[in-house]
Amino acid sequence: MVLFFICFFGILNNYLFSTDLKEMAYQSYLNGDFERSLEYYKAFYENNKDYRVLLDMAMIYKNSDNYKKAIECLEKSVSIKEDSEVLAELGWLYFHIGDNEKSKFYFEKAFNIENKNYSAVMGMAMVYSQTKDIIKTIDYLNIYKNIRGDYAGVDYLFAWNYVNFQMYDKAKEYLINVLRKDPSFIEARLPLAQIYLKEGDYNQAWNQYYRVLDYVPDHPIATKMVKIIEGKLTKQPEEIRPPFKILNPTVISESYDINRLKKSIKLRVAVGADDAGNHRKNRSLTLRSFNNINIYGKETGKNYASFKTGEMIKIKYEKDSLSIYSDNGVLLNIFSKPIIIKSDDPRNGTIIIEADSKNSNPYFRYSDREYRGEIEIVPLKGGFGIINIVELEVYLLGVVPAEMEPKWPMEALKAQAVIARTEAVRRLKEGPHKKEGYHLCDSQHCQVYKGVIYEKNSTNKAVFDTEGEVLAYKDRLAYSFYHSNCGGYIQSSSEVKGWGDVPYLKSHPDSDKYKEGLSPWEFNIWIKGMPEAYCNYPGVVSDSEFRWLKIIKRADINFKLDKRYGVGDIKSIIVLKRSRSGNVNSIKIIGTKKSVVIDKEHIIRNAFGLNSLKSTLFNIEINRFSDGKIRNIWFYGGGWGHSIGMCQGGAAGMAGKENKNYKQILNFYFPGTKIKKLKYIKK
Ligand SMILES: [Zn+2]
Ligand SMILES: [Zn+2]
Repeated sequence: MVLFFICFFGILNNYLFSTDLKEMAYQSYLNGDFERSLEYYKAFYENNKDYRVLLDMAMIYKNSDNYKKAIECLEKSVSIKEDSEVLAELGWLYFHIGDNEKSKFYFEKAFNIENKNYSAVMGMAMVYSQTKDIIKTIDYLNIYKNIRGDYAGVDYLFAWNYVNFQMYDKAKEYLINVLRKDPSFIEARLPLAQIYLKEGDYNQAWNQYYRVLDYVPDHPIATKMVKIIEGKLTKQPEEIRPPFKILNPTVISESYDINRLKKSIKLRVAVGADDAGNHRKNRSLTLRSFNNINIYGKETGKNYASFKTGEMIKIKYEKDSLSIYSDNGVLLNIFSKPIIIKSDDPRNGTIIIEADSKNSNPYFRYSDREYRGEIEIVPLKGGFGIINIVELEVYLLGVVPAEMEPKWPMEALKAQAVIARTEAVRRLKEGPHKKEGYHLCDSQHCQVYKGVIYEKNSTNKAVFDTEGEVLAYKDRLAYSFYHSNCGGYIQSSSEVKGWGDVPYLKSHPDSDKYKEGLSPWEFNIWIKGMPEAYCNYPGVVSDSEFRWLKIIKRADINFKLDKRYGVGDIKSIIVLKRSRSGNVNSIKIIGTKKSVVIDKEHIIRNAFGLNSLKSTLFNIEINRFSDGKIRNIWFYGGGWGHSIGMCQGGAAGMAGKENKNYKQILNFYFPGTKIKKLKYIKK
């Protein structure tokens, strides 16, 4: 290395193939060694005079929060060749340093060369928005919507501007659109709630805040507002948000008669668990069934009480024990040890947990829940936990439709059934929840399981057709990780801290149409655009998962970062490391009090804004006032989830757009693995 640097700008240049230089520059960029990366790119430029390298250099400067240098590189590049995309990027860089004049100049230039350049059109809208020219802002947003109607960020930009212009009627309309496309977009729910409040529509405001709590159960603002508004409601909470009630027994289609499934191993699944997979504390619950049910002591096996079809059982947590009450409020038993509740037909006869808006566990507030198998009630400190004891294959009937859209192509559903089964068996063996006394939780921590109310014929078929099939690598169970949407590029497990190097979890585009490894400039265009990918599947896979935009105000960024890390007022954010897929693996936050580096996938996603980011696949643009103070941070993002293993949206695309079968899908996402049948099927 020493020799290398002595010779750097001299002899060695001639020996090195330029492609090597470019690859080294790219590697240094991924590793966050920006100085070295810039040196390599410079050397490459000296050799080749290829103006496109200036674009990569500009993106490295942008990445390091040096927008002036980035502008220099891009201006040099356009002096060689005028390119609409580069001009638009210049517009954005000037916009972000608060120079509206220059920004407008470049956006206009880009627009004049290419009037379908959506980046320039959006830029024009934002420039006019800054100068409070409402009409022109909306004009350009409308042009933007015409050329990029498939982008979920469009409605958000409209809403963002209408809120800023205090045109609340219009803002409301667009916020509702945003939420229709992406109900989890809390940043849209909060302003919508505020607008309802301004209008004096307390019921609707309450509803919005309450729905925020669905996604982030302890959201500070929503928690506070719900309490404040509650006294002003003109309707009962149950009327504003009628809970989902199960009125009739679930009848399963004859082709998917549960008794056709062979007996499989029993799983213990914690239901109503929190995001970390722990029991939420339940303090009161009402159960019923369309069958006769009995209560047994878990240890004694003794039958303590029987209930007829439709009779209610009330379980209350009182004095560290479980009190069982009958329908009419008579105390029947008190237990200090776990009890089992079982219907007389555990496979088909289900147990229903009644929705009640006063339940301490939010999971049981708005919808009845229905489970096959047995229910175990476990007394804990401060409440009780609920475990559903259910056969593996029966459990999958409630997982596949919760993890994948049942309307999606059948081959994608079958691929999902195989990997959901694999994940369940792997957890059974590895026991992440062994200490807590169950195999899996029902939250995203393990895999989402919603019981009988989610079961659909399509997903039942996927489970039946793949009965017993799991994914294996060299005779061992495979790590069949999956995620909602990769944003167009699968991430290698070896590049993400704590995941380890797995031979079949490698980085590759979620497409056979483009090359591996996007240069810094290519990535910038790619993440802001709508590139070809299996998971870019308009009309089937949600657009707001494939590409998203989030603009977070400085105060909202500060709030969480300062509370969690004590960084003070935020001064800069720098992406340090990226995977070849573009996913951010390490990020530095520089504040007035101190700086922190975050390098864990889920913590990076959780660090910014009120709700978490959908993924680590994003580019950051820091928007400042002309005096250098941060106004807000723009996240141009793609995908939902960790991007490792199978992309669910991609599986839908492979099946629906390319007619691939589930084996081909699994082979694409887990190359080198094979499908094996579990023993209970073989015999
Ligand atoms: Zn779990
Ligand atoms: Zn994908």
